[in-house]
Amino acid sequence: MTKPLLQVRNLTTRFGHGLGSVTAVNNVSFDVNAGETVAIVGESGSGKSITALSILRLVPEPPGKIVGGEILFDGLDLTKLPEEEMRAIRGNRIAMIFQEPMTSLNPSLTIGLQIAEPINLHMKMPWQKAYDKAKQLLDRVRMPDAKSRLSSHPHQFSGGMRQRIMIAMALACQPKLIIADEPTTALDVTVQAQILELLKELTRETGSSLILITHDLGVVARYADRVCVMYGGKIIETASAHDLYARPLHPYTRGLMASIPRLDQPPGVRLVPIKGQPPNLAQLPPGCSFNPRCGEVIDRCRRDVPELMHADEKHLHACWTSPHV
Ligand code: ADP
Ligand code: MG
Repeated sequence: MTKPLLQVRNLTTRFGHGLGSVTAVNNVSFDVNAGETVAIVGESGSGKSITALSILRLVPEPPGKIVGGEILFDGLDLTKLPEEEMRAIRGNRIAMIFQEPMTSLNPSLTIGLQIAEPINLHMKMPWQKAYDKAKQLLDRVRMPDAKSRLSSHPHQFSGGMRQRIMIAMALACQPKLIIADEPTTALDVTVQAQILELLKELTRETGSSLILITHDLGVVARYADRVCVMYGGKIIETASAHDLYARPLHPYTRGLMASIPRLDQPPGVRLVPIKGQPPNLAQLPPGCSFNPRCGEVIDRCRRDVPELMHADEKHLHACWTSPHV
């Protein structure tokens, strides 16, 4: 088998130090193969964005810091790369799409300029050619009337169109990996589906890998090959999207699943939200972080921290009460 494009190994990212410190990403390991879509799913505050920002070395430091682990990308350990080399990777070989495009677009520049600039910079393409490429990219993300829209400013687009612009920018330098952090959370349901379809189609065409971050397990089945479920800064279950849906093993994953609308759900069945609140990372309970909210808790869960265990070769979970080999 060929080596994965990205191997995250025991990644640990902390904010602050001493008593008040929180471990936002706690010993996280996962792989992303070439051309694969891996979803990272979990409630708000579970460490999804900080995992993504750690990969790009964009964690605000201080107060944040990667304190352990490796991020192997194409043979390089990104945790050890000088900032200058990291800058050449960001936006070029790894691109990121954020939740709120307005915060990553410059309101005072035309989008033509904003798409063409990194092409000019990273790919050393002359401006006129970079502009042509920007137009082609807008066509690819199905921006109507792309040519004339190059001279529009960000506020002249709807939220969905702005997210298309972000995708065009992400694709500009033909990255090997795209990280999309809740790319559709701010959009309404119909536009959400269009954007995710577009992302899926374009990554398939270009062969890019995708890390799709979402709090919505509902979108994962359709768009991801594999899933990592995060809770309290840790991956608590990981499997292929198919296996995770067929046999969710961690009570938290089952809770997430019960709280999403399903297409095959008989009408009238009530959705059940997971009781309680996501954990406060500064005051995690002893044992399993999920134990105060778990309906299947046993004594051991309050005492020993479960690490990821194999249920089968490719399905792992961190739960004392679920079957493992
Ligand atoms: P999400 O899964 O919602 O993307 P994040 O990765 O953004 O969660 O955050 C995970 C945790 O990291 C938060 O619950 C918080 O405790 C901590 N954290 C994130 N950003 C900061 C920050 N700038 N300063 C201090 N703590 C932070
Ligand atoms: Mg987030």
